[in-house]
Amino acid sequence: MLYLDYFLRSLPLPMMRTTDSTPSIFRSSLGRSMVIFLIIMSIAVVGINGWTLWDSYDRTLRSTHDQAQNLSISLARQAEDTFLQVEITLTDIAREINGQMPVKAQLETLSSVLRGRQAVLPQLRGLFIYDVDGNWVATSGTYIPAKANNADREYFIWHRTHADRDIHIGKVIRSRSTGDLVIPVSLRLTSAEGRFNGVALATVNIDYFRQHYSYYVLSDRSLLGLFMADSTVMYVRPFPDSVINTSLSTSPLFTHALKSSASGSGVWRSAMDNEVRIFGYARLNRYPLIVAAGYDKRDIQAQWRADNLLSVLLSLSLLAALFLLGFFVLRQVRVSMKNHLEMTQLRDDLTTINHTLQALALVDGLTGLANRRQFDIFLEQSLQRSARNQEPLSLIMMDIDFFKRYNDANGHVAGDECLKKVGEALLHLPHRQSDLIARYGGEEFAIVLPYTGIKDAAKFAQRAVEAVRAIGLPHSETDVPEKIVTISAGSYSCIVKGNVPDARAFKEHADQALYQAKHSGRNRVISAEG
Ligand code: GH3
Ligand code: MG
Ligand code: MG
Repeated sequence: MLYLDYFLRSLPLPMMRTTDSTPSIFRSSLGRSMVIFLIIMSIAVVGINGWTLWDSYDRTLRSTHDQAQNLSISLARQAEDTFLQVEITLTDIAREINGQMPVKAQLETLSSVLRGRQAVLPQLRGLFIYDVDGNWVATSGTYIPAKANNADREYFIWHRTHADRDIHIGKVIRSRSTGDLVIPVSLRLTSAEGRFNGVALATVNIDYFRQHYSYYVLSDRSLLGLFMADSTVMYVRPFPDSVINTSLSTSPLFTHALKSSASGSGVWRSAMDNEVRIFGYARLNRYPLIVAAGYDKRDIQAQWRADNLLSVLLSLSLLAALFLLGFFVLRQVRVSMKNHLEMTQLRDDLTTINHTLQALALVDGLTGLANRRQFDIFLEQSLQRSARNQEPLSLIMMDIDFFKRYNDANGHVAGDECLKKVGEALLHLPHRQSDLIARYGGEEFAIVLPYTGIKDAAKFAQRAVEAVRAIGLPHSETDVPEKIVTISAGSYSCIVKGNVPDARAFKEHADQALYQAKHSGRNRVISAEG
């Protein structure tokens, strides 16, 4: 075993090479499929989630638009009802007065009518009657301030200067009787002749809207507002009362939205605090008032994020698990590919070594000619073919003359050199590919010549004897007169008979011819045939 190990190591072959370079997983169909699967799954997970998220965001925004618009329409209806009740009340009162300002005796009756009216309408802060000069005539309240005159109020001036019979809704004012913020709603009173005769006034409590708007559950930044058609603020939740009566003329609500439709929705930056909101708005049918509901966009986005966070996290975990699985599978693929590659390499190396060993087993180490083993195999095959095809076969056996003496005289190393030179000379003889030139053993050589009869074999043997002679290697101890190394050759030829050819007998015939050549003086050829 040790010899074998030493022998294998000394071979000029890369023995059991190990593959340092990691093989690409793309070279394996499983690796390729896995990578494609991972890419498709990633695209699918990211795509489906992205689409779902986008869709849910889009739906959230759309439903907020709808919600804002619905809310604004509902608030517009509520405002419309509020003012319609006030209008009916004022119209009824005007009809009651019927063009005649009450005389003192009738005042108490009128006041109690006003009180009765006010009591049934929660939005009303008070009802008032002013005469043609703006003096207080009657009120639903309990007292009339001395020398009270409202001729300076905007609504009074309006009715005095406009023959209009519709109610007039004025800017928010602070009540002179209670100090509350109220919306003045007034109606022109006319005399029987149709002349201006005073004003009937109803004050609508801002608190009424404040309370109503507080019923809605909305985020802190969401907005509900009541505006005059000229963009004056009447009330806006959740802003302080200081915004009341400010103008929003720069708001997109007034510059764009209301110009294109009486109700709708849109997204814009609020003129009040610069926040982006999704607004719904509606213009009242009967009165020059606008209602708007605005949902804060940041709140909506935050809510949407909170709603979708779990599903995004789950999807990311799924993706991570998928990649982890893919990573392990690919690693396994890589390991098995590496093993497979090493195995293949090992197999190739062993095959090469095997071939080399086979070749070495058939070649003579000293001369490089075929060795005895190869000779035996080849002779056996040649005999069988000759028997089968009935073709002639020749065998030439050769032996160096007086080689013992050469060794004795020159030493074994020189003897080996002599053997090499003789082998080389024989190998260089022109011969067919089907011929085999072998070292038979010791200083004996053999040539197998298939398809060759006695004549050609004798010629070949003669050329061999001459070729060795031609080397001219000095041999002082030989009996050959030229004192050079020579060989004797015995050639035997025949067409093999029988099914089981006898290699041994064939060799013996050639040996006998060689024996004769030796005994008849060496340095010659003796041919025989069977
Ligand atoms: P003959 O002419 O009758 O053949 O005489 P010979 O001396 O050649 O014959 P013999 O059989 O008496 O001697 C053969 C010699 O060949 C003996 C041995 O020393 C030598 N020999 C055999 N094989 C080798 C070898 O591989 N190397 C060397 N140097 N000598 C060898
Ligand atoms: Mg011999
Ligand atoms: Mg000899």
